[in-house]
Amino acid sequence: MSVEKRTPIPVSEAIHRVVQQDITMPTRQVKLADSTGYILAEDIVATYEIPRFDKSPYDGYALRAQDTEGASGDNRLEFKVIDHIGAGSVSSKVVGEREAVRIMTGAKVPEGADAIVMLEQTVESEDSFTIRKPFQVGDNIARKGEETQIGDVVLERGQRINPGAIAVLATYGYSEVPVYEKPSVGVIATGSELLNVEDELEEGKIRNSNGPMIASLSQQLGLEVETYQIQQDDLESSIEAVKRAMQQHDIIITTGGVSVGDFDYLPEIYKAIDAEVLFNKIAMRPGSVTTVAVANDQYLFGLSGNPSACFTGFQLYVKPAVNKMMGAQAYYPQVIQATLMEDFGKPNPFTRFIRAEATLDGQQMTVTPAGFNKSGAVVSIAHSNAMIVLPKGTRGFKKGYTVNVILTESHAYEEDLNL
Ligand code: AMP
Ligand code: MG
Repeated sequence: MSVEKRTPIPVSEAIHRVVQQDITMPTRQVKLADSTGYILAEDIVATYEIPRFDKSPYDGYALRAQDTEGASGDNRLEFKVIDHIGAGSVSSKVVGEREAVRIMTGAKVPEGADAIVMLEQTVESEDSFTIRKPFQVGDNIARKGEETQIGDVVLERGQRINPGAIAVLATYGYSEVPVYEKPSVGVIATGSELLNVEDELEEGKIRNSNGPMIASLSQQLGLEVETYQIQQDDLESSIEAVKRAMQQHDIIITTGGVSVGDFDYLPEIYKAIDAEVLFNKIAMRPGSVTTVAVANDQYLFGLSGNPSACFTGFQLYVKPAVNKMMGAQAYYPQVIQATLMEDFGKPNPFTRFIRAEATLDGQQMTVTPAGFNKSGAVVSIAHSNAMIVLPKGTRGFKKGYTVNVILTESHAYEEDLNL
């Protein structure tokens, strides 16, 4: 038997092949309160201005700027208070010469008035107050439409619904929001050495840590996950398991069995289900055998069994695919630059990804490998919030070098908040 020859492709090419698939989830309406984290399926266009009317941003008095001319410490000008309105109320009075309406924050500026004087700028008596400085037309008024005009696209299709988007949607009366559905995920760990979390350890066996990790990674993306039972390295039953999962989920993620060993059955499984293999060798480490296939408009991610490789494969290929399927405009991994805080001498024949801890150290982003980092490593994954990226064909990275980094968690380990 000869070992299959595989030709490695660059990481960027592999990511491109994944996101170039034309697989998009259908759209539907979800309740505003449930829509955080979904991707918006339509542009949201302003049907009215924000603010909707000239309003007061302060507690104060609405008056006519022209009546304040000449006011000074020696020449305090007096105004008669003709009405009193809070937010939500509208005055029926028209402000005339040397008149004012007492107005609270958020209330509509009454007719006739064209400036607001803050309470702090007045000396008040029973039904009047005085001021000691002049005001200009428009002073302290939040103008109708100063933020948004009718017809402005306030949210774009493909935008992730974050708390700010929720506020905009609420402003425009969307109790239901058009979104792309989220793909559901089926996770299958393969390997005859694998035990379940609750199993007693046995000679030669290990617990399945990748299955729960992939489920957790998927949950972090807000996806529904079903974890199937561990598959032994057996072709027939594994084919059946993958077929069953494909009937129930949009994305199938397996771990293990993608290499060229005697019991690595994923390549056979892809053949059996007639899947198109996008690639099965990438110029990356760890996880060069990571395989992505497509069948029936469904992604099949064949992640490596080695935990660090499995994690890396999820970050590089599953995440962008999920974001793309969900209609997101931004779906590539975000690469930043940071200062390497340790020497890393090993040569990098393939692009190397190292689980790492990135920290904002004062003004500078720094990054440190998160400990033992062979492809089989598991503990360092837990201590990482980022991956260092060392390009193919390089070696001898020294402390102080600037390196590319992919952030894998949105929170930095920053203690000095600089706030
Ligand atoms: P494989 O990708 O099947 O060749 O497995 C590569 C390495 O990862 C082997 O040492 C496996 O025992 C280990 N491994 C495979 N699957 C898992 C898993 N689900 N959890 C933890 N380690 C695994
Ligand atoms: Mg295996």
